Amino acid sequence: MLDIRPITAFTDNYHWLLVDTATRQAAVVDPGDAAPVLAYLTQHSLQLVAILITHHHADHIDGIGTLLAKYGPLPVYGPATARIPQVNHAVQEGASLTLLGHSVEVLEVPGHTHEHLAYLSREPLAPGQGRALFCGDTLFAAGCGYMFEGTPPQMHASLQKLAALPPDTLIYCAHEYTLSNLRFAAAVMPHNTALHERQRVEAAKRERGEPTLPSTLALELATNPFLRCADPEVIAAAASVEALPERDPASVFGVLRRWKNRF
Ligand code: ZN
Ligand code: FE
Repeated sequence: MLDIRPITAFTDNYHWLLVDTATRQAAVVDPGDAAPVLAYLTQHSLQLVAILITHHHADHIDGIGTLLAKYGPLPVYGPATARIPQVNHAVQEGASLTLLGHSVEVLEVPGHTHEHLAYLSREPLAPGQGRALFCGDTLFAAGCGYMFEGTPPQMHASLQKLAALPPDTLIYCAHEYTLSNLRFAAAVMPHNTALHERQRVEAAKRERGEPTLPSTLALELATNPFLRCADPEVIAAAASVEALPERDPASVFGVLRRWKNRF
């Protein structure tokens, strides 16, 4: 059993920390800023034993060097790319790694960047929960990442790969963008009642100073427009902002992603 704790960094990043409370060992996902991670590890007497990286952006990797300097040679898992020289265990689709005694599977989810990875625990990390998915900047709560490098069909396929996971999968993404994503989702799906309820619930969490994460895949399937590109309400909304001759889900996704960029 592992605890998963959010370490807040910069203005809206989460550096997820996986903690084995029995051994006091920990692993961190996407440490863009070493300072809050070091502070947390020190304060809680934890030993860092591994680092997972989803993609090369600075807000996900810039803390690696400082953490390695303090905790010594550690496995740093990530995509095989010259853009992340600190990765010493390059992994790809289908690979398995053992993290704090738990098996974690690697998924390739290109779109935000070409080499973007997600990490999925093979079993729940705590009793009664779903499996844990660390998806970086690919799937966000009520939204998805900016498409820096991929094409709409490619990013849509990546999101569909995540959408096919068990509905109780817990979604640990890398940014707290939920409320602004929900405002866009409400513009796309004004009649989605699950979405209205979610807006109320998530706004209350933020007012209490709590993260809106993790989310569940079931909630995303119900309220995230980027996972609902075959929903007639979403298709109609997309067709109202841009000519949409092909109404296939990937084309709908492309319209939504461009609409969100200027929203
Ligand atoms: Zn990014
Ligand atoms: Fe990011």
